[in-house]
Amino acid sequence: MNVVPGAPVRYECQRCLACCKWPGDVRIEREEVAPIADHLGLPEDEFIQRFTRLRANRSGLSLLEKENHECVMLDGADCRIHEVKPAQCRGFPNEWNFPGWRKVCRAVPVRGEA
Ligand code: SF4
Repeated sequence: MNVVPGAPVRYECQRCLACCKWPGDVRIEREEVAPIADHLGLPEDEFIQRFTRLRANRSGLSLLEKENHECVMLDGADCRIHEVKPAQCRGFPNEWNFPGWRKVCRAVPVRGEA
């Protein structure tokens, strides 16, 4: 492995699950509903009924959260929909993050490789 000098840093998820336990919306876009429902073996309307709610700003769907604020799809240390999880989950922390995220997320920085 050769590290490319000056290559952008990316963060590799260490599956610490911190982002699955934060309170707040886990956004699901319209086109993400069918693959997730299919993965769970449910009709789309049943998946929406059982596992989603309106987002706080009422602009679309979010996954439900448990009483302890964990995502409803978190099952112990596993995501039940890992293979088809929403873009919001796949994109953190490289595509989006927030001030102070490094204090709660254990992703490790890696430089581009050649
Ligand atoms: S869908 Fe999976 S990866 Fe996304 S917050 Fe829920 S448990 Fe975590």
